[in-house]
Amino acid sequence: MQEKTNKMSLKFISLSENEPFARSCIQAFCLPLNPTISELNDVKTAVSEAVTNCIVHAYPDRAGIVSVEAETAGNRIHIKITDEGNGIEDVTKAVEPFFTTRPEEERSGMGFTVMKAFMDDVKVLSKPGEGTVVEMVKFFSSGNDAEVGERWGNDA
Ligand code: ATP
Ligand code: MG
Repeated sequence: MQEKTNKMSLKFISLSENEPFARSCIQAFCLPLNPTISELNDVKTAVSEAVTNCIVHAYPDRAGIVSVEAETAGNRIHIKITDEGNGIEDVTKAVEPFFTTRPEEERSGMGFTVMKAFMDDVKVLSKPGEGTVVEMVKFFSSGNDAEVGERWGNDA
């Protein structure tokens, strides 16, 4: 049987109030896959980190467009977050725990580390002056096995 697929695409201006907007949208888009609350929180947190990075680092002194695209197929979601901002000089360094180019703002440099911990796959593509693409994949546990945890909408 062919897997059911679904797709969505979201574009918004890099204003900080759009971070919770993106988080709510991705949550709503995930719900038909019946994720556990913990899986849902993982995806929301990862998207929140990636979108915050666009707002803070890609467009530090101007507004730009942030794009969030997502596709579900079977029990997995593939999310792509794109900006056309400053880009990253050295991606290998940037994804290391505690690396930040903005220590003066008390950033901890843990955004990419959180994304990697909470998602099953994270890829970062970037070109200085052109922008950044973060692609992430998450597999949701399927079925109604109570052991995997509470699901959104369950009374338990
Ligand atoms: P934290 O996320 O803990 O607040 P942080 O944002 O500095 O701190 P990461 O999210 O891990 O840490 O990002 C590491 C570094 O990668 C950033 O300091 C920044 O230099 C760069 N970076 C991340 N995302 C982008 C982006 N979309 N555009 C340009 N630079 C980015
Ligand atoms: Mg960050």
